[in-house]
Amino acid sequence: MLDADFFRRWMTAAAAAVDREAERLTALDSPIGDADHGSNLQRGFAAVVAALEKEAPATPGAVLQLAGRQLISTVGGASGPLYGTLLRRTGKTLGTDAAEVGEERLREALRAGVAAVATLGGAAPGDKTMLDALVPAVDALGESFAAAADAAERGAEATTPLRARKGRASYLGERSVGHRDPGATSAALLVAALAEAADV
Ligand code: ADP
Ligand code: MG
Ligand code: MG
Repeated sequence: MLDADFFRRWMTAAAAAVDREAERLTALDSPIGDADHGSNLQRGFAAVVAALEKEAPATPGAVLQLAGRQLISTVGGASGPLYGTLLRRTGKTLGTDAAEVGEERLREALRAGVAAVATLGGAAPGDKTMLDALVPAVDALGESFAAAADAAERGAEATTPLRARKGRASYLGERSVGHRDPGATSAALLVAALAEAADV
């Protein structure tokens, strides 16, 4: 069973990964965006970690809802509301009463979270967005957390030849081809952080 500590570890590992990879994320956002993806997420996840320390939410659902709210309120770019919605909807689906949740329950909640991202952004897999990593990750989660992380990484890598149909990169049309999507790359970091939290 997965308790509030597990979800806190996930968010802390995500914040550390975003810190470590901030320059790379911003560099990826330079040719097909506005070169702020790394700094956006650094600011957002730093706020997530600070809020979790201050408020110490007691259940998995409460941890994720607080994290989602922080991302929405601190990140100005598209990725803030999108990742915020992912975590908030996942947390809402888990509810705030259960002190522990099973992996099956988490899988279903993440599926709902990813669906909420697709609804909010109007994107689908193949559009060269974070969904290209998130959707295969949720599909592989039934196997293991590590399989989900691998699927997310492969999905992010596979965005390079795609033409962007959503977000800033879509303004470039054909010129977005040949560049890896920054949001799919950070989504793979988020899923890797989940596998890290599980691997203790
Ligand atoms: P902004 O583009 O506002 O500067 P960021 O640079 O933080 O925001 O995030 C850009 C990333 O957000 C993109 O690489 C893409 O993966 C993701 N993204 C943008 N628009 C959408 C959308 N409509 N649906 C899903 N993901 C999106
Ligand atoms: Mg940007
Ligand atoms: Mg921006």
